[in-house]
Amino acid sequence: MSRKSVLTMQLDKDNESALYSHDDASNEEEEEEDDDDYHHNFNQDSDDEALPKSYNSAHFSASEDKFMKEHDLKAKACEALHNNGTNNSSQPPFSPSSPKNSFIKRRSSIIDMPQRFHHVNAQASTRSNIRNDFASDPNILPEDYPSEELIEFFSNVKKCLEFRHKYLDISLQAPESINPKNQPDWEIYPPPPKPTYKSKNRFNQLPKEDGQDVNEREEFDFSKIEIPEILDSKYYYSLDDEDVYQVHEKKNDKKIVKIPNLHDYYSDLNTISRISSDGPTKSFAFKRLQYLEAKWNMYYLLNEFEETKQSKRNPHRDFYNVRKVDTHIHHSACMNQKHLLRFIKYKLKTEPNKQVIFRDGKILTLAEVFESLNLTAYDLSIDTMDMHAHTDTFHRFDKFNLKYNPIGESRLREIFLKTDNFIDGLYLAELTKQVMEDLESSKYQMTELRISIYGRSIHEWDKLAAWVVDNKLFSHNVRWLVQVPRLYDVYKKNGNVKSFLDIVKNLFEPLFEVSLNPKSHPKLYVFLQRVIGFDSVDDESKAERPIQSRKYPPAGEWNTTINPPYSYYLYYLYANIASLNHLRLKNKMNTFVLRPHCGEAGDPEHLISAFLTSYGISHGILLRKVPFIQYLYYLDQIGLAMSPLSNNALFLTYDKNPFYNFFKKGLNVSLSTDDPLQFSYTKEPLIEEYSVAAQIYKLSGVDMCELARNSCVQSGYEAVIKKHWLGKNYLKGGIEGNDIEKTNVPDIRVGFREDTLQCEKDLIDYYNKLATAEK
Ligand SMILES: [Zn+2]
Repeated sequence: MSRKSVLTMQLDKDNESALYSHDDASNEEEEEEDDDDYHHNFNQDSDDEALPKSYNSAHFSASEDKFMKEHDLKAKACEALHNNGTNNSSQPPFSPSSPKNSFIKRRSSIIDMPQRFHHVNAQASTRSNIRNDFASDPNILPEDYPSEELIEFFSNVKKCLEFRHKYLDISLQAPESINPKNQPDWEIYPPPPKPTYKSKNRFNQLPKEDGQDVNEREEFDFSKIEIPEILDSKYYYSLDDEDVYQVHEKKNDKKIVKIPNLHDYYSDLNTISRISSDGPTKSFAFKRLQYLEAKWNMYYLLNEFEETKQSKRNPHRDFYNVRKVDTHIHHSACMNQKHLLRFIKYKLKTEPNKQVIFRDGKILTLAEVFESLNLTAYDLSIDTMDMHAHTDTFHRFDKFNLKYNPIGESRLREIFLKTDNFIDGLYLAELTKQVMEDLESSKYQMTELRISIYGRSIHEWDKLAAWVVDNKLFSHNVRWLVQVPRLYDVYKKNGNVKSFLDIVKNLFEPLFEVSLNPKSHPKLYVFLQRVIGFDSVDDESKAERPIQSRKYPPAGEWNTTINPPYSYYLYYLYANIASLNHLRLKNKMNTFVLRPHCGEAGDPEHLISAFLTSYGISHGILLRKVPFIQYLYYLDQIGLAMSPLSNNALFLTYDKNPFYNFFKKGLNVSLSTDDPLQFSYTKEPLIEEYSVAAQIYKLSGVDMCELARNSCVQSGYEAVIKKHWLGKNYLKGGIEGNDIEKTNVPDIRVGFREDTLQCEKDLIDYYNKLATAEK
C-alpha cells in the first residue's frame, strides 16, 4: 500500500454519487468490491480538497482533472452496458470479474450503440419471451435469479404508483385529456393572436365579418361572454363528517365521487413513507438512479454529435423561438426591481395627489406617504425602497415570507403590490399589464402566475375575480394558479377564523356555488376559465408537530392555535378539489390540478404527500435525499418546476442544486423564476434563469430546448395551444408525439428518454409477474 497511486473517480458530491477508488496495485478481489455500488463510500461533503494528496499532485489542471474524471465515468458506464454483449447467463452484465475482456469488446461496439438502444427496446416491447430479453438487456441486475428482495422492491414500486394513480384518477387530475378545456370544442376568449405570417390566411382563422383588421388583437370584453345559467341543477353539495365538500345527485342523494377520507389518506401516506425508509429499498432505488445517470452519460458521449446535426438540420427553430413557460412564478413578484422602481417614481411624479392608502385614521396621498417615509422621488432607489427584498429577506425565509403575510404590510407594498387595497389594486393591475405586454412582445415566453387566496373571508374570490375582469388582465401569455398560504395559525391568533373549517369554507364555498350556477358569480366564472389549479405556499422549513398517531381531527375540530402540518393542508385542498372537479366536469367547466410548492425545505415527507395528491410540484430539491421517492417521481414523470436561482438565495447554493442531476436522469424538470422581483436582474427573468443554468451546467442547445419542451408539457395551457407549441400529437408522448419543427428537440433525444423510461417500466412488470407467478 506504500505505492498508492490512486485513480479516483469522483462525481459531484451533492448528486449523492459514489466516491469510488480503484487501487491499481491491489488484487482482483478488491477490485470486485469496488465495482459494486453498495461498497462505495458515500461521502457527504467531499470536494476536490478531500481528494488524496497524490491525486492533487498530478500535473493536471482542475479542468483537466474534471474532464478525465468524467471520461472515466463514461467509460465505466460504457463498459457496464456492453458487458451484456456476451449474452452469457453465467456472466451477468454487471459482473465485475470481466473488466479485461469487456475492454476489448467495448472498443469494437461503441460505434453500433445507437442502433442497439432501439433494437433492445423494440424487442422488449414485444414482450415475446420476456426472460430472454432481460438476459440481453443492459437493465438486468447482478443476480442470476432475482432475489426475494428485488421482487419485493419492484412490487413496492408498483404499489406506490398505483396509490398515486388512484388519487389522481379520483380527482380527475389525470389523464390530461379528460379536462374539458382540453377538448377540441373548448373556446378561449379572447382567442390567441394569429401567427403574423398567416394573418391573411383563412386557413388559421377567418377574418372578422365586420371588416375588423385581422392583425388586431381582440380586446377582452366582459359583455361579450355568455354566462350560462343553471337554475335547476341535478346536483347539490354539502360538507361531510370530515368537513370535505361532497357533491350529491338530487334524485338519489348519492355522492358523485368517493374520495379517500383523512384516515385512508394518512394510512396510504404511512405505507409509502415506511417503504421509502426501508434500507434495502433505498439502496435499490439509489442504484437504479445511478444507473439512469450513467446511461445518460453514455448516451451523451455517443450521440452528442448526432443531436447537434439533427437540430442544425431543423429549419427556423432555435432556443429563442421555441415556447417556454415559466411554470412557477408569483404574481406579486413577477416584475423585476427596476420595473417596479420606475413605476413608483413615475406615479410619484404624475399622481402625487392621488389618495392611495388609509392609515392611522386618515387617508394619505402618494406624496404624503413618501413624506412620512422621509423620501423624495430622487432619493428612491432599489436600496432605499422600503422592500428589503434583496437584502435581509434574501437569506431568511421567515423574512422573505412576510410578503405573503397579510398581517403587517409595509406601506409601499400595500399600495403597489396588493390587489385588494384602498385603490382597488389599480397600480398592481397597471404593473401586471405592463408585464403582460413585455411577455407578449417576447411572444415565446409564457407565465403561470400565482395569485393569493388566503381563506380569511368568503368574499376574497369575488374581489379577486372582479379585479382581474375589470382591469381586463387577460393575456395569451398568462394563466393563473391560485396559491393558498398555510397561515391558519396567524389568522387564528388574529381572530379571523375560529377553526380550520372556516378556511376550507372560504376557499371552496364560492367555487361550488359558481360551478353549480355560473350566474351566481359571473366574474368568478370568467376568471376561473383561466385558472389552472391550486398551489400551496409558505415556509416549508417551519417546524411541524411530530406526527405520532396520525389521528388528526377533521377541519371543524382543528381549533387550537397550532398550524396543521403540510400533509393536512394538502389533503383538504386535494379532497375538495376532487369534489369540485367532478361537479365542474358535469357542467363542462375546466377542472383544476394541484401543483403545490413542495420539497424546498423541511420534512422530505412533504414529497410523499404531494406524490399522492398532486399533479406536479414546484422545487423538489429535497428529492435528492429520498432516492426511493425520487425514483417514483421519475417513473411517473411528475413535473418539477425548479428554480435554482431562488434556491441559491434561500436554501441551497447553486453548485449543490440537484437540478442538472435530475435532468440527466430524465426526471421531468423545467426551469422557472419563482420571484423575479427578488432574484432577477434583467427584463427577461426566464431567459436569465435558462442562461445561468446553461453557463453553469454547460447545457447544450438541445438540452435547453428539451427543458423548454418540458415546461410546456408541465404547464396547464389548453390542449389546442399546446398542440400549436409542441405538435399535434404531443399527448401521445415519446417520438410519436415529438415534432422537431416545433420543439427543436431531436427525435434521438426524445427516443432515448422514452426507451429509458420504458426499460424501467418493463423491469417493474417483469418482477411483478414473477411475484404473481410465485404465489
Ligand atoms: Zn415560489
